[in-house]
Amino acid sequence: MSSAFIMFFGPPGCGKGTQAKRVTEEFGLAQISTGELFRKHLGEKTPLGLQAQEFMSRGALVPDSITIGMVRERLQEADAKAGAIFDGFPRTQAQAEALDALLAEMGEKLCMIIDFSVPLEISRDRLLARQEGRADDKPEVIEKRLNDHAAIEDAVMPHYRAQQGLVRAVDATRSIEAIYEDVRSLVKSCVD
Ligand code: AMP
Repeated sequence: MSSAFIMFFGPPGCGKGTQAKRVTEEFGLAQISTGELFRKHLGEKTPLGLQAQEFMSRGALVPDSITIGMVRERLQEADAKAGAIFDGFPRTQAQAEALDALLAEMGEKLCMIIDFSVPLEISRDRLLARQEGRADDKPEVIEKRLNDHAAIEDAVMPHYRAQQGLVRAVDATRSIEAIYEDVRSLVKSCVD
């Protein structure tokens, strides 16, 4: 099996975290979710977690140097050898460039970007209904994260859309099962 490195892209609440979890379990890939990694550091009160906290609690991006350093370390773990799903990363142009460079160092490159398309109103409703107890799932912070998504798209997607056939859209308004069927076959095409 060749390594499969895939980025999941979409607004908060599009369901990419849920899909990433299922895909990584089925295909034995690493799930590299920067939001979850930050929350784990925060829970363990590591210095990195405490640094990230002030940015996360107001829905701001954690600085690139911290975020990229954390991804670099995560990519060195054994489970990332077979490949990884990037969820919530990259979110800036500098992160996108760093990801290309990190993968190139490993002799790898991104196989695909799966673009979870969903209208902002649906994302907003899902986030408001979410019961995970996340500190940043408060209405005013949700609004900021949704607004910021457009800027994140402008920062990273032109880079990938310029590469013919790299970005594949999935209709993320449907059920988890229906979305997964599409996601699964797209991921399979990278793994095979
Ligand atoms: P998420 O779980 O992806 O919604 O991320 C939760 C929060 O973690 C974000 O609102 C940011 O504060 C921070 N975060 C996650 N990923 C990144 C990233 N790639 N760059 C900067 N900050 C991030």
